Amino acid sequence: MNDISAKIEALRRKLGGKCCIMGHHYQCDAIVAHCDFTGDSLELSRRVPHIEAPHIVFCGVYFMGESAALLARDGQSVHLPEPDADCLMSAMIPQRLARSVLEQLARTGRKIIPLAYANTSLAVKALTGEYGGAVCTSANAETMLDWSLRQGEAVIFMPDKNLGNNVANRLGIPESERHVLRIDGRGLLEPEQQPLHKKLLFWPGACSIHSRFRPEFVEDARAAHPGCSVIVHPECRQEVVALCEAAGSTSFLIREAARVAASAPGSALVIGTEENLVYRLAARHRGQCDIFPLSRAICPEMAKVTEERLLETLQEVADGKAPALTVDERLFEPARLSLVRMLDVCGK
Ligand code: SF4
Repeated sequence: MNDISAKIEALRRKLGGKCCIMGHHYQCDAIVAHCDFTGDSLELSRRVPHIEAPHIVFCGVYFMGESAALLARDGQSVHLPEPDADCLMSAMIPQRLARSVLEQLARTGRKIIPLAYANTSLAVKALTGEYGGAVCTSANAETMLDWSLRQGEAVIFMPDKNLGNNVANRLGIPESERHVLRIDGRGLLEPEQQPLHKKLLFWPGACSIHSRFRPEFVEDARAAHPGCSVIVHPECRQEVVALCEAAGSTSFLIREAARVAASAPGSALVIGTEENLVYRLAARHRGQCDIFPLSRAICPEMAKVTEERLLETLQEVADGKAPALTVDERLFEPARLSLVRMLDVCGK
């Protein structure tokens, strides 16, 4: 254990039950080693209301901290070791543009329900709640899209067009019923120039990490590891997903690695997602099956959370000086509503 790790562990012991450290699966091993809980965004959201500690230190990107602050109890505070770590996808949907688009869609006279991927700002989640919609994660996007379609005449899925297309494929919604919106810098749609009558409209965003994977990467992986299975995250392009054995959320990829390790010893599994998770799974199942990344893929925003920053944050918590993430009161109720709708539909 290095010096910083030892100091972090000493502070954790000192803080005891006063502090809970949560970390997303895309955090590096050095951070994960200090976490009380790790999970994907859905697992971490579900856990927050059950945490007793008055301080939650959240190792992840900004929108995850906002969701934790939203679901935290009265008197509980959420602290981000690196508040500048921001999901690149969530930055593709500023609230100002999203509001402009939802207003224009409302003027078409159709009941169009917004479905916001968890990877959005609190302001966009609040807007979603205000317009009768809900939040989803990659683990429950299918259930939530099905639910959203039953609430109105159409759905606008924001902001990940790749996840939207992959979920639509799973639900059997034909391509002819989908449209990726063209939005200008002021949030204008030019309604007469695009087919807004379709059942499923997509915000034109994507994860810049997962959308890097190309179909030829899958072909190269099969050539390099004959007989391998390839599984990917559904933020990948639909052309990539179409070539793979399966696609699913982070928790699905973890379960699938364990299943392959137990049921097909000696086999090869290639996983297309953030590489910190892939290398962790490779280490966990070493000797049972061989796990490889589809390609190098590090989320630079997740990587901004370092042991140094975690140590500083814990020290600030211990000294009573840690800045807490604050939620704009006006956003609280509508944003909470969009998250609670998801938790109600998918079970707490
Ligand atoms: S991997 Fe993609 S979706 Fe996840 S935090 Fe990074 S940019 Fe956002």
